[in-house]
Amino acid sequence: MSGVPPHILRRRIVALLVLAAALALVVVVVTQVKGGDDAPAGANASATRTTAAARRAAARRAAPVDPTARRDMGRPGPARPVPILMYHVTTDPPANAPFPDLYVRASEFQEQMDALHAAGYVGVTLQEVWDFWHRGGPLPARAVVISVDDGYHSNFAYAAPVLRRLGWPGTLNLKVGNLHEPTYGLTPGQVRALIAAGWEVDSHTIDHPDLTTVDAAQLEREVAQSRRRLQRAFGVPVNFFCYPAGRYDDAVVAAVERAGYLAATTVNPGLASPDEGDRFVLDRVRVNAGVSGATLVSQLAGLGA
Ligand SMILES: [Zn+2]
Repeated sequence: MSGVPPHILRRRIVALLVLAAALALVVVVVTQVKGGDDAPAGANASATRTTAAARRAAARRAAPVDPTARRDMGRPGPARPVPILMYHVTTDPPANAPFPDLYVRASEFQEQMDALHAAGYVGVTLQEVWDFWHRGGPLPARAVVISVDDGYHSNFAYAAPVLRRLGWPGTLNLKVGNLHEPTYGLTPGQVRALIAAGWEVDSHTIDHPDLTTVDAAQLEREVAQSRRRLQRAFGVPVNFFCYPAGRYDDAVVAAVERAGYLAATTVNPGLASPDEGDRFVLDRVRVNAGVSGATLVSQLAGLGA
């Protein structure tokens, strides 16, 4: 440094101090991002099976998330089709699971939701879609309904925290009988917590039979009584119905309409259509295990959503 004039030296020292401060800021930000990772314990357990490089790649893809962010609900407009995603269990499949496709790992679910968020999608409930279609309500330009069928404990443990982080509600198609399944079902308290977090609860019958095969008395019980039981237990409207295994016929649709539901969801693939004739046969987009967030986003784009 000998021979450098004092004012140049001062300028170099200031430049070094600025650089040091910037580096310190980077360290603080990185530490906070790591510490702020609120993935549930089960997600961490499954993450140990992925490589560190894969985790870093996923973190790069993940959108920055502001937990205090409010959903931009968009504006009213002409009715248009909306994707309703269909999930079941949101954790690792046990060994020899009879239907492993129904299990989406917690880490996969998080990656899918982050990819949707990064692509500009906003999670909404089926009621919000209905209100946009029929009551002049607002809806985000890229709305997506996250529906989960049956009512599994893993929905509360793993899916709900991911959605809460984005400020998105879920739509729970609840089989009433799962409230009394201590090993894998949701408890009434957990359903109340989901409702408090903005989730919608819809009926998925009491015992989950193929409704095209039951007699008139059981059809009425599964469709109408399930709605009344959920309304009484949780104090919510239960305006929508979801056919078990997607099975329905004219008699089933008539029972759903008689019970006062506004609409019903199927497992027919596609976007849910606002047409009156499709009211009780709304299509959905099944999300199976092993689907990346990027694949899901391009699938929705391919459907025009
Ligand atoms: Zn089901």
